Amino acid sequence: MSKLTLLGGTPVRNAAIPWTNTMGEEEKAAVVKVMESGTLSAFLAKAGAAFLGGPKVKEIEKDFSDRFGAKYGIAVNSATTALHTAVAACEIGPGDEVLVTPYTMCATASAILMNNAVPVFVDICSDTYNLNPAEIEKWLSPRTKAIIVTNLFGLPGNLPEILRIARKHGLYVIEDNAQGPGATIEGKQAGTFGDLGIFSLNYHKVIHSGEGGIILTDNPKLAYRCQLVRNHGELAVDDLNDDESVVLGSNYRMTELHAVIGIEQLKKLDGFLSIRRALADKLTAALKSYNGLQGVVVPTGYEHSYYVYPIQFDKAIWGITRATFAAAMKAEGFPLGEGYVKPIYLMKLYQHKKVYNQTQYPFSLIDKPSQSYKKGICPVVENMYEDKLLIADVCRVPYCEQDIDDFMTAVDKVWQSRQGLYEYEKNNLTSS
Ligand SMILES: *Cc1c(COP(=O)(O)O)cnc(C)c1O
Repeated sequence: MSKLTLLGGTPVRNAAIPWTNTMGEEEKAAVVKVMESGTLSAFLAKAGAAFLGGPKVKEIEKDFSDRFGAKYGIAVNSATTALHTAVAACEIGPGDEVLVTPYTMCATASAILMNNAVPVFVDICSDTYNLNPAEIEKWLSPRTKAIIVTNLFGLPGNLPEILRIARKHGLYVIEDNAQGPGATIEGKQAGTFGDLGIFSLNYHKVIHSGEGGIILTDNPKLAYRCQLVRNHGELAVDDLNDDESVVLGSNYRMTELHAVIGIEQLKKLDGFLSIRRALADKLTAALKSYNGLQGVVVPTGYEHSYYVYPIQFDKAIWGITRATFAAAMKAEGFPLGEGYVKPIYLMKLYQHKKVYNQTQYPFSLIDKPSQSYKKGICPVVENMYEDKLLIADVCRVPYCEQDIDDFMTAVDKVWQSRQGLYEYEKNNLTSS
């Protein structure tokens, strides 16, 4: 559908609010200081003091571990490399399987393949969009080594229950907390429940340094292995004559520049979160009066960090498709995401099982695969993707309470126009 002519009148808002620059004088001054020092990175890939990087890298690691409550922090250059590092730290490799949600950024599952292990996808809960613990046991096999939980949209997964199951079966738990800094369960920080938790400092996240990632853990052995993977660990273990920790490393080092930006951004996290939470609470309350739009449901004892705001659309109640609703909202100045992301197993990479070349490695290492990757294996996710989920991005700076009122005015305008939109949809079936 290219153009909506039926809503008529002036749009509630002329254009969507653009992304905002959250860099201030603090970040600028900190970057200038590093530039003047000339030490933009202080890592050396050999055993010794410089193996762990420069002063600002160490400072951001301490700031994150203090802020969220973990013993060790390891700074890397993205959440993607953090995930690869975390899986490698658990000594997961060829022939192993790792359970993971299919409703997450693709990197969560790619990290498993990058270690030559195979992802097995576990369906989600329809109210939280997070990995459903009740679905875990049906996918377990003797090859299962870990569960990766994404705290999706900023809501922690059911970590207490997932940990209980993982402990019973001797599995590692890795938390992908790229979207959930500052989210909590009973006061405990998301990203500190699992054996390892990862955070993102990518440009699009709640706080950022352009690119960057942090790993948190309480386990000294896992922390050491992360440090090895980050910085060409094969050299350090030779220097140290450490046969036990041999590992293939890479260069996932964070620069001093990115570290100081992240340090300043972390100080702003609580301020950003209070704005996000206030706007989200207002939106949740307003959506309660709409039957066909289900806002966020926060389980008791949980705190959300609202990376984005998911809304479930019920086309039976609205009488129009999700695509028509989204197009009408866009015309009113509030573009919405449709479906979030394709369930990961439906991506071509998994359908063709092609990671490197024509060998189907590492999938080929597994005799009787636990999972076919066929459509239908995770019906809840597929339903969210195809029919139900909408993503609103109005609960962040510089949006304000008036914008939430405007959002609801637009929703109401679409509701009033739904008969016309239905006719429009019928007449334009071929052009959609
Ligand atoms: C953004 C994101 C990542 C990747 O983060 P980068 O820092 O861009 O590598 C991983 N997982 C989830 C859930 C994300 O949202």
